[in-house]
Amino acid sequence: TADVPGAEQQLAPLTGWRHVYSGKVRDLYVPSEAASVDDAAALLVVASDRVSAFDVVLEPGIPAKGELLTSLSRWWFEKLAGFPNHLLDVDAAARGIPAVPATVADRAMLVKPLDMFPIECVVRGYLSGSGWIEYQATQSVCGVPLPAGLVDGDRLPLPIYTPAFKADLGDHDENITFERTVELVGAETAEALRGLSLAIYARASEVAEDRGIILADTKFEFGADRITGEITLADEVLTSDSSRYWDAAAYDSGDRTASFDKQIVRNWLSANWDRIGTPPALPAEIVERTAARYRELLARLTA
Ligand code: ATP
Ligand code: MG
Repeated sequence: TADVPGAEQQLAPLTGWRHVYSGKVRDLYVPSEAASVDDAAALLVVASDRVSAFDVVLEPGIPAKGELLTSLSRWWFEKLAGFPNHLLDVDAAARGIPAVPATVADRAMLVKPLDMFPIECVVRGYLSGSGWIEYQATQSVCGVPLPAGLVDGDRLPLPIYTPAFKADLGDHDENITFERTVELVGAETAEALRGLSLAIYARASEVAEDRGIILADTKFEFGADRITGEITLADEVLTSDSSRYWDAAAYDSGDRTASFDKQIVRNWLSANWDRIGTPPALPAEIVERTAARYRELLARLTA
């Protein structure tokens, strides 16, 4: 259950719901009367203000981040209406699912519990982050060969699928090849995950581009519907936590630092922490700048 230091203490009880798990950012609840997650008719996913970078949770949180991520996910799920997703409709009450408590309504999503695939389905249209690091060593990312001579932030000839193995809490997600995903979930599912991920990325990049924003890369998580087996888009989608978003005008004028995601946090942490032991607390200025960028992304996308 709650393995995130401090998370358990901060969680206020939610009427009708029982806390079952805390990830780095989200807290998961099942209806109080459900015996287990497997038995639950619904999950309540509550996004906290916690911020993680390099797979560690940092202090302090980013004010209102949970609400911003939830608004953004909802907006994208609606834009991507053609792709099956895990959101449960509003008549959930009619099926005996407890109401979403008002105290968390703005940062909670009522979702269908899925059998999650242990794969982070990453798509990259641009070279950055762990993709850039891997490219410098191998001229490829997750086994996908790339042209020589690319530099950090370059646009790729075509978007590529670069999956990662979803590590347990406290471990680091690990880039893997497509062949490894076939071993993990079978060829048919592996191909479907790749196809869906590339298709959703293509659609979302168009939407973002229309608004002057580059979707440099993103991570999706999918699960199987427990009854029909249908591969379903889950988790958060296309948020500033799961994606790199850049300002297109700044990028075109040669500035590759104008991002709407937690790159501010990553940069500060890289410069101030050796990745051993407890990370230092984020300064107020970094917290506020990150919050402002998250707010700006939501405003620009949804305007
Ligand atoms: P990160 O995404 O930063 O690696 P995390 O994986 O530790 O973090 P969170 O994202 O904080 O966890 O928590 C959300 C958890 O809920 C994830 O484990 C995710 O796989 C899971 N999840 C999301 N949607 C569903 C769903 N519909 N059914 C079952 N589990 C889900
Ligand atoms: Mg997650």
